[in-house]
Amino acid sequence: MASSEYTTSATRGDSILQVENLQTAFFTDKEVIRAVDGVSFDIERGETVGIVGESGSGKSVTARSIMGLIKSPGRILGGSIEFDGEELTTKIEKEYRQIRGGDIAMVFQDPLTSLNPVYTVGNQIKEALRLHQGLRGTEATKEAINLLEAVGIPDASRRVKEYPHEFSGGMRQRAVIAMALACDPELLICDEPTTALDVTIQAQILELLQEIQEDRDLAIMFITHDMGVIAEIADRVNVMYAGEIVETAPVVELFENPRHPYTRGLLRSIPGNTPDEDRLTTIEGDVPTPNEPATYCRFAPRCPKAFDECDKVHPVSLEVEAGAEDHTAACLLYPEDVSQERAIELHREAETESEEEL
Ligand code: SF4
Repeated sequence: MASSEYTTSATRGDSILQVENLQTAFFTDKEVIRAVDGVSFDIERGETVGIVGESGSGKSVTARSIMGLIKSPGRILGGSIEFDGEELTTKIEKEYRQIRGGDIAMVFQDPLTSLNPVYTVGNQIKEALRLHQGLRGTEATKEAINLLEAVGIPDASRRVKEYPHEFSGGMRQRAVIAMALACDPELLICDEPTTALDVTIQAQILELLQEIQEDRDLAIMFITHDMGVIAEIADRVNVMYAGEIVETAPVVELFENPRHPYTRGLLRSIPGNTPDEDRLTTIEGDVPTPNEPATYCRFAPRCPKAFDECDKVHPVSLEVEAGAEDHTAACLLYPEDVSQERAIELHREAETESEEEL
């Protein structure tokens, strides 16, 4: 195999979650939107993996696919989602309900989507404890108070009796995290959990997640559009663009040595990250709707480095250079230790190989 010296997948062996070539599409009268188009990544226990990209890049659809929350007109078309050795894409709704909120819990951007305004916060945590840990009565109340204390809610024995509207935004998000923990999950999916919060509260929530992770050896998948947040929380990062992962690397490597032109653009748009320029750089244009098969680079219309082949060859994730196993980019400029002609050939070969495997 011509491309064997440069791996095409960033997934590894001992993971709690392994997503391989996931494809999720939405069918409308006019078009098929390939919201997630061949995404592969994995998460190990005790690790935080970031998924970053602009809105419309497919981050949330990836999370919803893992949670079994894709509803018509959407559908998982192919690929695999393996959680703790079990394939999830073949599960029926009843089986999925056990996993959702049990082994895998999710925290959304708006805590009010998870909290019911007519029940006290305590009762909602107790319901999760009853369903997932079989706790009832005073035992459940005690545990609900413990969980509220664990997420840093002061005076927890009083606040357990309060309603969501009596909590501030930051406290509500803490309560949602307490509810998620009541399920004793192995994987926590956080979808922009700090976006609606001010920076001080945001920092507190990120710190809280890190503490919980250490205590429980929890795997966390953290979705955000904010590179600053990713730098704070993630161990490894997947950058998504128009339904595809375009770069994967450990967080320090990604920030010190970004390769994909899209990642570079995202990093240049962080305030304070461009010391020699007075103004922030933005990436012109919007993320395109991925409504046709990727036979070219979807970033090409916005890419400052685009060249002729970018409109003709679909770049796949390859190591950025030989031996850089944990750093891959889907860009025809890489691997960078071969000629550009050879790099393009490697992408063509890898694409043909993956088509043959399907
Ligand atoms: S493949 Fe071409 S257009 Fe796409 S990111 Fe690389 S250089 Fe830019």
